Amino acid sequence: MSRVVDILREELREFAGYSSARKEASGGTVWLNANESPWSAAGDTQGLNRYPEPQPAALVARLSALYGVNSAQLLVSRGSDEAIDLLTRAACRAGRDSVLISAPTFGMYSVCAKVQDATVVNIPLLAEHGFALDVDAVAAAITAADNDQRIKLVYICSPNNPTGAAVALADTERLARAAHGRALVVVDEAYAEFSDAASATSLLTTCPNLLVLRTLSKAYAMAGARIGCVIGDPTVIAVLRSIMAPYPLPTPCVVAALAALSDSATALVRSRIALQRCERARLVRALSELPQVLKVFASDANFVLVKWVDAAATYQRALAAGVVLRVPSPQPGLQNCLRISIGTPEENQRLLAVLAGQSRADGQVNAEAHA
Ligand SMILES: *Cc1c(COP(=O)(O)O)cnc(C)c1O
Repeated sequence: MSRVVDILREELREFAGYSSARKEASGGTVWLNANESPWSAAGDTQGLNRYPEPQPAALVARLSALYGVNSAQLLVSRGSDEAIDLLTRAACRAGRDSVLISAPTFGMYSVCAKVQDATVVNIPLLAEHGFALDVDAVAAAITAADNDQRIKLVYICSPNNPTGAAVALADTERLARAAHGRALVVVDEAYAEFSDAASATSLLTTCPNLLVLRTLSKAYAMAGARIGCVIGDPTVIAVLRSIMAPYPLPTPCVVAALAALSDSATALVRSRIALQRCERARLVRALSELPQVLKVFASDANFVLVKWVDAAATYQRALAAGVVLRVPSPQPGLQNCLRISIGTPEENQRLLAVLAGQSRADGQVNAEAHA
């Protein structure tokens, strides 16, 4: 029976990492073990003279409850960005192993692979099918890879950034089974709160080589606090923790995250998610009616991808009115596309007003040209 941890780099499997003073300490009231200042800085009320807990127990417990997993399955990281970096370094032998992505997708998978000198195998999304995942081709690539150029990580971004669609749980399960004993399947659920699709955490008991990334950066409005997590097999989680920086999570960020996860705060988050989903539907309808829009892609996230007659002109027009849209990094299938985050109702209205003005101006130009 193969162990999931055996997919990771051999030399890291038993690696204990840095033994920090904070890790070694237990009990005691006089702290003379970490060369900290015994005094708080002027104005500090959070005990910032002390190093933080490497994995703050209260936050781990709160996130584990939120995602319905146990605490040994969860590692808190500096955003899911750090989790992606840790996974890449733990799994990929530099110059030998690969990661599999389905572009267009989130850029950090490739960035972290490049830093680790891992190859990026791209099985493109099916542009002609609304950017659906090519499940057959991904499964074939996983099983075809030979032992010396092995695919170690398979990224499934669901809902996908920047295209917006979620991946069906049955497809994720099929890929995890195909990758059994070979690769870790990493499901990035940064936008899961905006989707009706069930979380892949429900597959963890049947698919031990599956990992799920979650973050407080999007629905929980905490992008500035850099709190994310990776959920999965406890032995893999233990290795990731061992290669992480000793004190990754600043105390003020942990305090802010716990506040953002209080009962009253999460109730507010739920109502804002509901509002953003309504706004998403409204924006999709309104954008679809604009003459300069070629296609609005169905989205399960807090953004929509839109294909324009002339994306550069629309981008400039919006910018001139103070509205900043996102030009996705150049990837096949995204020509003339812009990604639009769902803002407040007022912000969305402002964007629609600007775009309606643009189409009127274009109409004017056309009318003059035809005169
Ligand atoms: C925004 C985003 C992240 C990064 O989240 P952080 O937790 O802020 O690092 C991860 N994955 C995807 C797909 C994202 O769009």
